[in-house]
Amino acid sequence: MNTKQKPIVRFAPSPTGPLHIGGARTALFNYIFAKQTGGKFILRIEDTDKERSEKKYEEDILSGLEWLGIKPDEIYKQSERTDLYQKHLDALIKSGAAYVSREAKKDGAEGEIAEVVRFKNPNKRVTFQDMVRGEVSFDTTELKDFVIARSVSEPLYHLAVVVDDFEMKVTHVIRGEDHISNTPRQILIQEALGATRPLYAHLPLILAPDRSKLSKRKHGEAVSLAHYRNMNIAPEAMLNFLALLGWHPSASDASEVLSFDDLVTQFQLQRVQKGGAVLDGNKLNWLNRQYLKKKDMIVK
Ligand code: GLU
Repeated sequence: MNTKQKPIVRFAPSPTGPLHIGGARTALFNYIFAKQTGGKFILRIEDTDKERSEKKYEEDILSGLEWLGIKPDEIYKQSERTDLYQKHLDALIKSGAAYVSREAKKDGAEGEIAEVVRFKNPNKRVTFQDMVRGEVSFDTTELKDFVIARSVSEPLYHLAVVVDDFEMKVTHVIRGEDHISNTPRQILIQEALGATRPLYAHLPLILAPDRSKLSKRKHGEAVSLAHYRNMNIAPEAMLNFLALLGWHPSASDASEVLSFDDLVTQFQLQRVQKGGAVLDGNKLNWLNRQYLKKKDMIVK
């Protein structure tokens, strides 16, 4: 990366469900980082999965971010960028980095054949420096020749992400830890496209109070940002709460009541913790009371 270049970050949700609390935290960390560095914050709606993507979820994402006061500099939708993916897919096929494979169709009738595009795995070790997790290394051999497009005109997630990060000149990929195992595949595709590798920062998982993984099935609405909005939590309190999911101020006696401006001054991506961040409802309620008190004082 050119050291004079301003950072470009992105929040890339798939509109396949309401904005998740972990997604809101990812958006916030990207946004704070962009504000600290004079960089650009892109919102990219990853709606290549036509069956699962829905307009109502896209709207939920946009209104959730607006409620929190997170304002993207640019907004893109992957469904409007298919020509671009096609262009890069063609180039990969031409260079021999990917190939069309005729195979028995998954869930198809017996004897039905589908043409998918597979990436020719160079079978090597991929190592990258993660700003949160340190050195991460994977042997990609077991990934085999993975599928990057359902057909020559239908790119799948890994290809679209890599093409977009490349075309949008994304410098830092700040996203949830659930994507760490996707990174080696994405780095292999980047290398085949001749793209520069962005810096990675994988944020810790958000855990339920009993330290189990937060899941829609077990925790219901509590996984979505809208739930807290409907509970009349002040957006400033929610923003403050999200910032403390995996990060805290460096001085041990520092106040945890932090405005967005305080966060821009104090937040350090390098100090994000590796271990899971536990969702503590009592803390959210306490923070909310602090903001309500402040508002009361202003009104009086
Ligand atoms: N679209 C992916 C998701 O919603 C995120 C992709 C990324 O951040 O690289 O989980």
